Amino acid sequence: MSSVVETRTATPLKTPAPLKMAKEEEPADMNIPDNYVAWTLKTQKPLPPVTLNNWWKELNYLSLSILTIVPTIAIIGACYVKLRWETAVWSVLYYFVTGLGITAGYHRLWAHRSYNASKPLQYALAAAGAGAVEGSIKWWSRGHRAHHRYTDTELDPYNAHLGFWWSHVGWMIIKPRRKPGVADVSDLSKNEVVRWQHRWYLQLIIGMGFLVPMAVAGLGWGDWAGGFIYAGAARLCFVHHSTFCVNSLAHWLGESPFDDKHTPRDHVVTALVTIGEGYHNFHHQFPMDYRNAIKWYQYDPTKWFIWVCQQLGLASHLKVFPENEVRKGQLTMQLKRLRETQEGLTFAPDVNELPVISWESFQEQSTKRPLIVIGGFIHDVSDFMDEHPGGHHLIAKNIGRDATTAFFGGVYDHSNAAHNWLSMMRVGVLHGGTQHGLDDKTVPPSQRLRIARYNELGSGNASSTAWSDGEGLLG
Ligand SMILES: [Zn+2]
Ligand SMILES: [Zn+2]
Repeated sequence: MSSVVETRTATPLKTPAPLKMAKEEEPADMNIPDNYVAWTLKTQKPLPPVTLNNWWKELNYLSLSILTIVPTIAIIGACYVKLRWETAVWSVLYYFVTGLGITAGYHRLWAHRSYNASKPLQYALAAAGAGAVEGSIKWWSRGHRAHHRYTDTELDPYNAHLGFWWSHVGWMIIKPRRKPGVADVSDLSKNEVVRWQHRWYLQLIIGMGFLVPMAVAGLGWGDWAGGFIYAGAARLCFVHHSTFCVNSLAHWLGESPFDDKHTPRDHVVTALVTIGEGYHNFHHQFPMDYRNAIKWYQYDPTKWFIWVCQQLGLASHLKVFPENEVRKGQLTMQLKRLRETQEGLTFAPDVNELPVISWESFQEQSTKRPLIVIGGFIHDVSDFMDEHPGGHHLIAKNIGRDATTAFFGGVYDHSNAAHNWLSMMRVGVLHGGTQHGLDDKTVPPSQRLRIARYNELGSGNASSTAWSDGEGLLG
């Protein structure tokens, strides 16, 4: 097996030349080898590690400047410029406008194609997204698609395994040790709005990042300086860290209700700080779904915005994954948790582990210790006789006898808890003691819906499931 992998890692498998498409139409991942990830990790060496001797050469000074100068302007500005309530309201509003440019535009529309947007909506989202100053749609989507394809690996640009701060800002400030894994964005290269944004990107970030928020506050209520400091710089700082949280907080805090193979998590706090991108475990499982939150009461303003756009005729073809597949993911995780609970409990000894004892031997041994036959099993009740809720005497009178009828409703129809407890007292199987097929008498209730791993089942192609394992059948 390993030798097959070895030979394949050395040679990238190329598509035959005649099948190649014209250069400009060719997706970036068209001719990658089938073993691309292993091949890349093996053949392309990462940059040397960042150390105390080289760190200053390994910084991305443009990103570092933007991420430090903007908050510095906001903090110093706030000391000198009084915050007016109109400007405060406008800053929050503009935070949502530019944030939605990233979440509804860059992320769900362009990176994931989770819905179709009309041209006016696309231009609005492209302009709003530029106001968040996080790179062009094309650059952002290329990185994000690689993040989804190579989640938690060295080819994931925001690899959460390298720590919270790396996935939050580190990956932008320090030059990456590897190029992000290949991801195709040829669809975006053909998009007129994406190209327009790419072409005018510098003008758009100055205009949408600072001039528009200043102009609204200046022309609206004469607060030019406040517009610059609060709706410009402070708002930009908040939008930055809000959207960065999708790569850091959403891969760190919360639950994995759909799959725990990778780091993405669901948490309401992440949703609150990211305009609804907090149900990231769901999102990584169903990335082309226009929703992040699937329940109506969960906070996902980005989903609500896209839905409103649909009602206004600005968006269409909102993609939703089939409910049946979503629930399969949830079921798998629920079974997994139940299995953990199950593994923490002790169950009755397996029927195959118990000695088979004849009626005569049972009779003889029950003169030395209190043994009772119920449902074909021999039980040692010595520690239980005084605990029996029905009284010591009912146990005592059945020692050396078959109490099946009395136990199963003849005297008292015992509870599930009693059945479970009784099964723990099993010490042997009575030879020829019971008929076949009496599962309800021989399988304790706690084991009737046992969670079995697929490799514990007879057939290797079944997945983890609940089943009645037939324990206790004699034969
Ligand atoms: Zn993610
Ligand atoms: Zn995504």
